[in-house]
Amino acid sequence: MLPIAWTRLLVTACALAGCVANARAADSPVRATVTLVHASDAAWRAEYRLSEPVDAIELGPPIVEYRASAWSLKSPGLSLARDAAGESIRGGKSFDRAIVEIADYAPWAHDQYIPIDRHSDGGHAFYLGHLMGSVRQGTRERNLLVTFELVGLHGENVLLAEQANDDQGTYAYFGPQQAIDAGAVRLVVDPQTPRWIRDTIDAVVAPVSSFYQQAFRRSWKASPLLIIGAGRLDEPGFSIKGGALPGELFFKIAGQQAASGDTQLRTMFEQLVAHELAHIWQGLVRRGGTGEATESWIHEGGAQALSLAALEVSGLWNAQAATAFKAKLHAECVQIRTAQAAGQAADTSREAYTCGYERFAAYPTGPVELWRRLLAETERSGAPYSAAMVQRVSARTTSGVR
Ligand SMILES: [Zn+2]
Repeated sequence: MLPIAWTRLLVTACALAGCVANARAADSPVRATVTLVHASDAAWRAEYRLSEPVDAIELGPPIVEYRASAWSLKSPGLSLARDAAGESIRGGKSFDRAIVEIADYAPWAHDQYIPIDRHSDGGHAFYLGHLMGSVRQGTRERNLLVTFELVGLHGENVLLAEQANDDQGTYAYFGPQQAIDAGAVRLVVDPQTPRWIRDTIDAVVAPVSSFYQQAFRRSWKASPLLIIGAGRLDEPGFSIKGGALPGELFFKIAGQQAASGDTQLRTMFEQLVAHELAHIWQGLVRRGGTGEATESWIHEGGAQALSLAALEVSGLWNAQAATAFKAKLHAECVQIRTAQAAGQAADTSREAYTCGYERFAAYPTGPVELWRRLLAETERSGAPYSAAMVQRVSARTTSGVR
């Protein structure tokens, strides 16, 4: 029996894939160094040093009540404001320094990144994207390009994704765990995480990564960071929130059912890990990639198709398992289409994963060759993935044409 929360996870993963949510201004960016200090167990301090004075730092929509309730502006004259455009740091005059004290904050919404995920061993995954945004100077809005510096507690390990300072929101890890070299990723895992989750990671990450690596001949300078947290394990049901961020995978496990690790859950998690790893390779381009304009069936349907190829070729799944999974996707797509045709309400959040997969699988090129061409094309042109791009590269008779 699959709880609703699992479905929601996939929606979140979708949002994560195209994940740069900050307002972008075409203007040249203002630069900032943000030093994030882990001040004491549940307290943080973010120190902004901007390259030039601004009238406001625009942070985007509220994250539940995270900034309103857990943030406290310590710079005289500055405060957190909220209007229809979202939240911002502003004051009566322009400023180039701002200090914010931040407390641990537990509430989270399904369609937003968990701001600060506290692990059972006192470790924390801290979402840096909520500190990012744009700046306003008079009526002019410019992107804010942040370089993060992290300062942990005494003796604490601090880990950052390779892309953390590439204007992309990622999680930073502060805590007692050393990163474990788990095949192709650096793994940090909350000790409370059920053993089968860890076993699945061990079984899946190395062979699937090596499949993508061989398929696409691309790799990171630093291994992607995989952060797994576990909590609320006494609540009914089962959920995993998370997905792929640039250079990073993030999962949060919750619910009583997580302890069981039955075959159905394991199979599902295997596919999820392979799917999220596919997003990592979809993003392994110097420019282009998944953009705000990319229709989600492309990266989600594409990741589904790649995950199936990876699981089958690596021998983790046999043909029967793959066939069962395809049949499930097909049935779900049919259900959505049938409801749509009848004018009934359909859960369209799953459309990109199910019908999107079928759309992708229908190209005779095959998902691996198609994605080889898409990676080359997005990088060559600088344009984000698009339906037109899929159509164009699928029509080629040979690969690697530059
Ligand atoms: Zn996805």
